[in-house]
Amino acid sequence: MSETVSTADLCVHCGLCCTEALFGWIPLVDPAERDRVATHGMAPPQLEGERFVTPCCFVRDRACTIYADRPASCRDFRCEVLVSAQDGAIPLPAALDTVRKAVELHQAVLDKLPADTSLRAMRQRWKEREATAQPSSPEEAQLRLAYYALNLFLDRHFRPADGELVERLD
Ligand code: SF4
Ligand code: SF4
Repeated sequence: MSETVSTADLCVHCGLCCTEALFGWIPLVDPAERDRVATHGMAPPQLEGERFVTPCCFVRDRACTIYADRPASCRDFRCEVLVSAQDGAIPLPAALDTVRKAVELHQAVLDKLPADTSLRAMRQRWKEREATAQPSSPEEAQLRLAYYALNLFLDRHFRPADGELVERLD
């Protein structure tokens, strides 16, 4: 693996793995880790047993405010864009373009999300609507379109092909 591209080069422009875009929740590996995030101020309902739901309360301006103390799952995670940039499969400028596009698509989702609703709650609502064949309002349909556009892009560039991360949405 090439060391020419670091998380500092790429992740500071992104931060999407700390939001609801890539993960609905992040696992905590043991009770000590749970205690550590709790000490930093994370609490239920965000803190759920051995995991916490996103968006993470510690992300500010795309950066982790508990970086030295971040959980192992955060430490270990590299999206496919970062992996490809670090392996030299794509040059840093191309990786940055991909990250910026994803951030733009995520912002388009946030702009359409009602102020008092999380993306997780919306995903749940969509599942219920699908089960009961209820129609969406025009605003909700716009939000779903933006959400699908974001996810198509994330599937293509950020998530591994095995679908593992999609299972960590809800
Ligand atoms: S999604 Fe990838 S590029 Fe973005 S912050 Fe996470 S690891 Fe870095
Ligand atoms: S603890 Fe830090 S790295 Fe982990 S999700 Fe929260 S902001 Fe991101």
